[in-house]
Amino acid sequence: MVNITWLGHGTFALGVNGESIVIDPWLEGNPKFPSGFAFSRLDAMLITHGHFDHMASAIELAKKFSPKVIANYEICTWLESKGVANTSGMNKGGRQQAGALAATMTHALHSSSIQDGSNLIYGGEPGGYILHLPDGRNAYFAGDTAICSEMALYASIYKPELAFLPIGDHYTMGPEEAAHAARMLQVKKVIPMHYGTFPVLAGTPEALGAKLAGSGIEVWAVEPGKTVNW
Ligand SMILES: [Zn+2]
Repeated sequence: MVNITWLGHGTFALGVNGESIVIDPWLEGNPKFPSGFAFSRLDAMLITHGHFDHMASAIELAKKFSPKVIANYEICTWLESKGVANTSGMNKGGRQQAGALAATMTHALHSSSIQDGSNLIYGGEPGGYILHLPDGRNAYFAGDTAICSEMALYASIYKPELAFLPIGDHYTMGPEEAAHAARMLQVKKVIPMHYGTFPVLAGTPEALGAKLAGSGIEVWAVEPGKTVNW
């Protein structure tokens, strides 16, 4: 079983076998961050791409808790230059342990750059992750992406039962494309993310649900700060 806590936008805390894992940490400045939430430990950190809304809190959390930090090679190299230890850069197609989980880096149709002062630094390619749970189930964390045909491959290879999909539109897919993605992934449940943070991220779980009517796929609209079990 995994405990899932949405921290708003694209940020999630996962609890697996007593270990704590954060994905795409953006705490301070995140308009939907649940006040009162705080990490007490952090065993692993997964980052999908270099944009601020996915790693603005990475350095602070890494220095405080010394988790294993997993991202693409370019982001890990940049984090090391900022004094982050224990990075483990990887690339798409590879798999490695992230605390109690294993994570396979997947493709994403997006961009990736790192804002460093007034400079915009190359952030490698954007990605996502297949999360391999200790109990044998798999989940797909898409990161920021448009719909892409690779998702059919992930369904075939990993058979994920749960997908975390962006639905906000504008910078990522919206509800219509996310519904197609969910069908292509053949998942049982979708946790929508990357919506409602800013006015342009206008996609809603209700719109996704309408597009998935009759599919048997459940839209699992979790609330920031309310931990759910899967
Ligand atoms: Zn984003």
